[in-house]
Amino acid sequence: MDRENQEIISDLKTYLEYLKGMGIVSLPASEMKADEPSQSTMITLEDVRKELGDCKRCKLHRGRKTIVFGEGNEKATLMLIGEGPGYDEDVQGRPFVGKAGQLLTKIIQSINLSREEVYIANIIKCRPPQNRNPQPDEIQNCHPFLMKQISVIQPKIICALGTFSAQTLLKTGAKITALRGKLYDLEGIKVIPTYHPAFLLRNPEKKREVWEDMKKIAEWINNNDKTKEME
Ligand code: URA
Repeated sequence: MDRENQEIISDLKTYLEYLKGMGIVSLPASEMKADEPSQSTMITLEDVRKELGDCKRCKLHRGRKTIVFGEGNEKATLMLIGEGPGYDEDVQGRPFVGKAGQLLTKIIQSINLSREEVYIANIIKCRPPQNRNPQPDEIQNCHPFLMKQISVIQPKIICALGTFSAQTLLKTGAKITALRGKLYDLEGIKVIPTYHPAFLLRNPEKKREVWEDMKKIAEWINNNDKTKEME
């Protein structure tokens, strides 16, 4: 086996160990079809929504009112990914429409973008009981659908909002304080984690750091992608 393949296998082993640590012991087949043509040429967000259907893949379906699929521009340059729906989102079927959502809208506007220009989604699409943290099996069941949304939208940059979003997307157990404000790579897409708006509501003194992170996003878009929002 050549050196490159050895490195790939070693990386894969590390990733599988990480998943095992999170309690994930099997992978959905839909993520493993490496020989499929690029999904962006094949499917739309509507197709992904149809495939999701009246999802009962995990226990969260029992307590939810509505599946919160995500919303925004199918061709967005910037995608923002939160944790999961809360009470208001569950009732309305839309992401980030409660108090944290109102703050997120202002955060998006702070870099001269609107909610309609970006795409907003979550790591999980159904509200956990009492807004508890998402559990590994719930994240695992939802993840293929989020990845399909990403592959359809093909954003240039993703802002991961809070610990669960950053850790899930970056496949790491590192703390959000260590991850935030830095640029990472997810299959060719830049990822920049920042604090979750709900955390900011409880810790308004952290707004300054989020502002710094948003300026980095705006700068990156400005330097790397001048056309996408105008397509
Ligand atoms: N918090 C999230 O992480 N997502 C939402 O959609 C709302 C609140």
